[in-house]
Amino acid sequence: MKVIHNEAHGRHDPSHQFAGGRQSKHADAPARIEKILSALREADLEVIPPHFYCVDAIRTVHSKDYVDYLSGAYEAWVAAGKSPAGVIPGTFPVRAIWRRPDELSRRAGWHCLDTETPITEHTFEAAVGSACCALTAADLLLAGESRAYALCRPPGHHAGRDHCGGYCYFNNAALAATRLRDGSGTACKVAILDVDGHHGNGTQSIFYESSDVLYASVHADPNVTYPYYWGYAEETGAGVGAGFNLNVPLSPRADETTYFGALAGALEAAQRFGPDFLVVSLGTDGSADDRLGPFALSTGAFAEMGQRIAEAGVPTLVVQEGGYHLATLGECVALFLKALQGKMGTIPY
Ligand SMILES: [Zn+2]
Repeated sequence: MKVIHNEAHGRHDPSHQFAGGRQSKHADAPARIEKILSALREADLEVIPPHFYCVDAIRTVHSKDYVDYLSGAYEAWVAAGKSPAGVIPGTFPVRAIWRRPDELSRRAGWHCLDTETPITEHTFEAAVGSACCALTAADLLLAGESRAYALCRPPGHHAGRDHCGGYCYFNNAALAATRLRDGSGTACKVAILDVDGHHGNGTQSIFYESSDVLYASVHADPNVTYPYYWGYAEETGAGVGAGFNLNVPLSPRADETTYFGALAGALEAAQRFGPDFLVVSLGTDGSADDRLGPFALSTGAFAEMGQRIAEAGVPTLVVQEGGYHLATLGECVALFLKALQGKMGTIPY
């Protein structure tokens, strides 16, 4: 299994965020990726750089308006005399939405969910690189490989068509799924299984009215955990997408038996859908050690997850989402991928 890694991710390094009304150190540190990489190198996985795609590839999911905003927001923000530490909105168009301002530095709240996702000098460059990792992995599957791992940073599953949030700027899983769906010349079906501890509100919103991409997520109850406003069981899709969105919110106190029961249900739904490809949004922030994580999963649970997903027998692209505990993050990812590789290695494609 190839690992696709963009070396320039480290240039995106926000100094702080505002969470719980406090300024705190930003949790999406470049060291996360270095920890994962060293664990994967020890596991003898081949690491390759991404192919760099033109911006049109990103516009298959994200609006032109948003891509233009993200590429120019930092410069406009600083030129307007605001903090050079990064773009963080202070005003949001709550519910009664009227009009989007033209000037980029005044649009921060229009294009962002929260105060935890700063746009810094090199954020756009890193987000493009991260998206390219996912697109490269999709092309590997389209070329016949049975699995690939996109080591994405920044992560993506909270980003919608025209907004960032939750440390995410471009939705890497959605970009990969779209490329897999459209890239082979024949219509393909793609299932996305999201095992990050948080609901992937961005991915859900992008495919909410689609019947050719199924989104299934097991996550902590949004009534108590980010992203708060989405991720409830009654969100099942709309229009032709009705029935193609499955949310399984669990209590943060759920034990592993309950967790794996929920995962089995989500996997079953994905298999019933009959996908040509599976995209896994892998977050390890459900680990008991993770301070941002809602669950208390053991490190070994990630091997179990990888094995169960391998048993689905579908060509699988794994995209890195969250996971912030530096001491165990690499081990969790390596265990997951080794289990995925072990089983799928026996399946001829
Ligand atoms: Zn998460």
